[in-house]
Formats: sequence, C-alpha cells, structure tokens
Amino acid sequence: MKYISTRGQSPTLSFSEILLGGLAPDGGLYLPESYPQFTDADLTAMRGLSYADLAFAILSRLVDDIPAADLKAIIDKTYRADVYAYTRAGQNAADITPTVKLEDNLYLLSLSNGPTLAFKDMAMQLLGNLFEYVLTKTGKTTNILGATSGDTGSAAEYAMRGKKGIRVFMLSPHKKMSRFQSAQMFSLQDDNIYNIAVNGVFDDCQDMVKAVSNDAEFKAQYKIGAVNSINWGRIIAQVVYYFKGYFAVTSNNAQKVSFAVPSGNFGNVCAGHIARMMGLPIDKLVVATNENDVLDEFFKTGVYSPRGSANTYHTSSPSMDISKASNFERFVYDLVGRDGTKTRALWSKVDSGSSFDLNADGYFAKIADYGFQSGSSSHADRMKTIRETADKYQVIVDTHTADGIKVALELRDVNVPMVVLETALPAKFEDSIIEALGKAPERPASLQGIESLPQKFIVMDASDAAIKDFIVKNT
Ligand SMILES: *Cc1c(COP(=O)(O)O)cnc(C)c1O
Repeated sequence: MKYISTRGQSPTLSFSEILLGGLAPDGGLYLPESYPQFTDADLTAMRGLSYADLAFAILSRLVDDIPAADLKAIIDKTYRADVYAYTRAGQNAADITPTVKLEDNLYLLSLSNGPTLAFKDMAMQLLGNLFEYVLTKTGKTTNILGATSGDTGSAAEYAMRGKKGIRVFMLSPHKKMSRFQSAQMFSLQDDNIYNIAVNGVFDDCQDMVKAVSNDAEFKAQYKIGAVNSINWGRIIAQVVYYFKGYFAVTSNNAQKVSFAVPSGNFGNVCAGHIARMMGLPIDKLVVATNENDVLDEFFKTGVYSPRGSANTYHTSSPSMDISKASNFERFVYDLVGRDGTKTRALWSKVDSGSSFDLNADGYFAKIADYGFQSGSSSHADRMKTIRETADKYQVIVDTHTADGIKVALELRDVNVPMVVLETALPAKFEDSIIEALGKAPERPASLQGIESLPQKFIVMDASDAAIKDFIVKNT
C-alpha cells in the first residue's frame, strides 16, 4: 500500500516513510492510494479474533514495508490486557475494548482502559512501539515536541517513556491543567521525558511548537518530530476498534451498526469513515460536538467555517475544544471524489482564515452516502446526561462520552445498534462528575494519591528562544 497526499502534489511514499512525519510537503494529509476491501468472507473470518489478531488482519493490509512477523510482534506487545487494565467492574481486560450494554441496541465501547484513561492510548501505545522499531532499524533518533492541554500529552508520554531513540518535550500551560492531569504527566521520572510548564495558555504552547517547526534548519538539525492527531499511524490504530465494536454487538454481517463519536479534531470519527470505506457495515456515523460546533454546522449546512483560537469556548469537555478539525481534510478529499486540486483550493480558503461551502457542486448532497449525521451539546446537556446515565443504567460516564450519548439518543434509530465511543473515564474529569452527581467517581486503586507523588517539570516563559535553548542543552 502506497500513500498519497490529499493535495495531490507530493511524492507517493510507503508507510514507514510517512510514519514519523506530519503534513505532506504540499501541506496535505496522507491517505492510502486506495482503501483495502474486506469482503463478507473476510469479515466472517475476522469475527471472533482477539483484539491483537484483528489489529494484525487490518494493519497488515495498510503497512507494506514492515515484515509481517515484526508487525505482528509490535501489535502483540501493544494490545495486552496488562496495558489496558483499567476496566469497569465485570469487564475482561483481555477484550482490550470491551462493550457495556446500556439497553437494547445502545452500547458503550470502552476505549479508555489504557494507562492515561482516555481513548488516545489506543493509538498512541501502538505509535510508541512503531516509532521505536523504525528508529532502531534505521539507526535514527527523534525529539518529539508537542503542546497539550491534557489528554494528548499524557498519552504521548506514557507511550514513549523509556523508548530507545526517542525524547519527548511536552509543553503545557502552567497551572491550567487539572491536578490529576498534571500529576499524571509530571510524576513520570523517565530520563527521556521533559515536562515543560509554560507561563501562559495553551495557545502560547502551540505557538512555541509552531515556531520551532517553522525553523526548517533547527527542525532538521535537532530531528524534531510530532505525534499530533494527523499522524496516519494513529488513524489506522483507531480503525481497528470500529471492527471490534461491530463484531461485539452483531451476530452476522448482514446487520448494520451506528457509531456515535465525541469529536474535536475529527481523528476518531475519520477512522470510522475509513472502516466504512473498507467494507465494515456501518449505518450512521454520528459526529458529536460540544459548544465548539464547527463540525456540527458543516454536517447540517455544508458550510465549513473554522473559528480562530480566540473564538474557541473553554468547556467541560475540554478535549473537544477545537475549532479547526485537523483531520477533516481526509474526509473531504474522499467526498470530492479524491480530487487533489479541488481539496487544495478548499484548504487555501481555510488556510487564509476563510470558510468554504460544498453545496454548489452537489458535494454536500452526497454526505448521506457516507452515513454522517451530527449534533452538539451544552454544559447543561452534559450534566443532565451524566445524571440520567447514572440513574437509568448505573454507569458513570465522563463529560466527553456524555456529549456522545446525548447526540446518540437524539439521532438513533432504535432498531439499529448504536455504539457510543467512550473516549475517557470519569476519574479523569472528577470535578465535573462531582458537579453532576454530588460525588467523585471511583478512581483505580493504582492511581489513588497520584497528586502527592514527586513531580519532575520545569517552568518556562512563553519564548521561542527558551524552548530552542532547552532542546539544544538536553539533546
Ligand atoms: C482527543 C479527545 C476527543 C476528540 O477526539 P478527536 O479525534 O480529536 O475527534 C474526545 N474525547 C476525549 C476524551 C479526547 O481526549
């Protein structure tokens, strides 16, 4: 399988060649030249496979340049019961992504049983093992530089800690993350993890990352890498659990299933779109947003109108506080018939701060063919959904998953199984659960008291020179 750019002007590359990079040189995102197809017979053979074997069956069709035995070993090392151990009562960790039945045709897919209690561990753990493999093979090293407001940074650090050839420099806004989130990251004592608390807000952190990435000479000399949500390795890891969830709630391939996906950067639901393009019988893909509803607006009107960071609301589902969905271009490329010239024209508008409208050429009319639907939630909706889910099903969900449930209940067809992706465990967002239920959610025993562990981090002013200097001194 070879990879092409959504903007049609970059060379065709193999999987390992795109794994460590970010955007294609023409500014586009990588996608496979064509989607591998899983037939009815393939699906039957995949039904009942363990998570790791299922992951191999799918990823081996997308990864062309890692020998099969090596890829299998990387996958087996990643998807282990002891890595995804934070199960709910009654769940089997060996399922990796077990389901919770709420009622007939309504399920949660538990994607947050990994080390940082959010679904990002599903992909990031695989990425850590793939990076280490490819770097060791080529004798190279990388210095990952990232900015986080919480979930991405911790998932990246837990995936990369102790890995050969990899250092992680993670910027976060000083004193702006929850105590639990800072404790998760800052209690890591590994030599290759550098936590940098920036005197400023998340956007200051992101600006520092951009400044370093835009300095081509520095970037090349210090081998600066990224693990952001456009990384193709992350997307393909996420495709797997749509298959797993589908098989968990059906007994034959004639049945269709819908998925509701709490969305921000469109990475998670993009993986659902790709699973569907590969032949998984998905009925609807429901995009759930919070008050930052750019995607909901698009799926209702055909107009994509990203808002700047100054117009992004800070909400109680903070990992979805995104107003420019970095993976959305992948779907639009498919929607416009894989026309790189068209995609380039649309994103030249986005990149200059403007919007685009897909009604004109009949593209928006095709949305239905791809099964997309959408909805959004407010803070009050989240609180109500958390309370009702606890009352009705005795299941406590986090604020992001609550956004998914709220929209799923609004849009579902009761005759079709609806699977809501659980993107974080409630323990991660304790304050909101206390607000909704008047009591704190249960926290896994091994994470109790994490706030009082010794912390390793440095405080830095929001300065491009300061971060460069720090990288120079520590590499
Ligand atoms: C990152 C994240 C999301 C959004 O996922 P995207 O792939 O960016 O759409 C939703 N919920 C939680 C808890 C997250 O950490």
